[in-house]
Amino acid sequence: MSACIFCRIVTGDAPATKIYEDDAVLAFLDIRPITRGHTLVIPKRHATDLDELDPAMGATLFSFGHRLAKSMRRTGLAADGANLLINDGRAAFQTVHHVHLHVIPRHRGDTLRFAKGFVLRRPHDTERTAAALRSGLDRLAEEERETTA
Ligand code: 5GP
Ligand code: ZN
Repeated sequence: MSACIFCRIVTGDAPATKIYEDDAVLAFLDIRPITRGHTLVIPKRHATDLDELDPAMGATLFSFGHRLAKSMRRTGLAADGANLLINDGRAAFQTVHHVHLHVIPRHRGDTLRFAKGFVLRRPHDTERTAAALRSGLDRLAEEERETTA
């Protein structure tokens, strides 16, 4: 079994609350969220850091992060924005050495709440949060179908 916790999540050998997956990427809730809905998007294939990551995979990773950030504005979370962030390397405080894109929902005027979340890092109502995120992705797909119809 892999020593990498995110690889174990990919194979189902470690638990995670999954939001989305396809052949290339997996998105799941961060176990210590800064804000409600804080999600990690990872390549399914292990890459330790950006040096090891195939650039096409980097584009795929960001493309889904972009989609997820847009969808967060369409969920019960009603985000007004999002922080998208990669901590690349120990020098940048990377603690899990499998590349991951943080997608962190933000709300207008949430600075104090964000600061508190940054310190406490407590999970919120995991299953309802995951359901809201999944429904946001569904709603985004529906909107896209309507605009191309
Ligand atoms: P970074 O490496 O960018 O500093 O952050 C790693 C992130 O992974 C942290 O936000 C941390 O809470 C999250 N994390 C660490 N271990 C696990 C885990 O086993 N499951 C999940 N869902 N998240 C994790
Ligand atoms: Zn890994």
